Order: sequence, then structure tokens, then C-alpha cells
Amino acid sequence: MPSPTPAPTCRRCGRCCRLGGPALHAADLPLIHQGRLTPAQLVTLRRGEGVTDNVAGTVGPSPAELVKVRPVAGGRACLLYRDPPACAIHDAGPLECRALFCDDPAALAALYAADRLTRADLIEPGSALAELCAHHEAETDLARLAGLCRLAAAGDQAAREQVAALARFDAAMRELLPARLGLDPDTLPFYLGRPLAEALPALRAAVIPGGLYKRRP
Ligand code: SF4
Repeated sequence: MPSPTPAPTCRRCGRCCRLGGPALHAADLPLIHQGRLTPAQLVTLRRGEGVTDNVAGTVGPSPAELVKVRPVAGGRACLLYRDPPACAIHDAGPLECRALFCDDPAALAALYAADRLTRADLIEPGSALAELCAHHEAETDLARLAGLCRLAAAGDQAAREQVAALARFDAAMRELLPARLGLDPDTLPFYLGRPLAEALPALRAAVIPGGLYKRRP
């Protein structure tokens, strides 16, 4: 009698790690509290930021804020991925990594949207840092900014000036936090999200007269 086909299991090929790091959930809080994951290893994807949803197979503005393990500079792979395939925190991997099996993503899909962490879960409430992050979030709300960018790209000069002022505000906040609070600049993608022009590529087209395709002199 033929032996039953073994259930497929993870081959630890590293493919999923090369496609990006996990979003964090409440179950991952111990990794933060134990210092296994640090703010410099994280990035905040803000509400309204364009994201690729690998489970839903969609690309579009994120309906809510989420915190992820950062990608390597200039790439997509998870910052904690090591080649040959290995994870720097494999023994205590984040929830999504433990649930993900690329041949059968049902387990990941079941928990994917639940109990996601945001900055509010990770920054001391009422602290100067929390207040500055909340101020930055409110001033540079990405949904509102996307609307301003559309107006600016269509030739609305007042909207263009507002977009440019918000881009300057974002840059100033990225200097202020390290200068006033002593923050490591590597933690800014977590505390403030990615720079506005990365979080919202339409911003570049909005503030450069003639749009993205204007030739340099
Ligand atoms: S945390 Fe580890 S297992 Fe998860 S995506 Fe990154 S390298 Fe892969």
C-alpha cells in the first residue's frame, strides 16, 4: 500500500522574508519589551499610505496604521533576513512569520488583520515623544495631503504651497526629534513613518512645477 503523501511543510527557503518583513500584532509585544525588536528595526506605515497587501492581493492606501519590521535599505527583504536563509530572531519569530506558509496562507490570512500594533501601543502615552508624533500625524494626514497633491498637480498654486509647507514641516520634525529628544535618526521611520515623499510619491509631482517628468535644467 502506498504511503500517504506527507503534508507540505515550510522548506525555510526564505522567499517570504525576501518579499518583506511582518506587520506586528499584540502577540509580538514581548519581542519589543525584551528588546529583541527595537524601534530602529521598525517602520510605521501610516493610514493612507500606499501599501501592497500580499494576502488580499491588493495595492492601495492603508485603511489603518501598522508597524512592520523594516526592509533592508533600498530593497524589500526583511531587515532580519540573513543569507543563506535564516532569520536573526528565528527562535522567537513574530506572529505572522510563525503563521505564514507560502503554499497555504490560510493560517496567516486568519490572523492577518487582527490586533495589529500601532505607534500608540509602543510609545509611552502622554510623553513629549507621543505628543510630537501625534502632532506630526495630524498635520500631515496622508488622506488630506493626497487631496492637496491632486489639486496642486492640477495647477492649484495655493495647494502647491500648502504641500510644500507640509514637506518642510515633515523635514523639520525629522531634525527636531533627534536634536530635542536625543533620538537615534534610524528610529524616525518608526516614530514619524517614512519621509512624506516616500509615503506619498504624488507629493513630488505636486511640489515640482511641471510634475515628475519636468527635465532638470
Ligand atoms: S522576522 Fe525573520 S522570519 Fe520574519 S520575515 Fe523577517 S527574517 Fe523572515
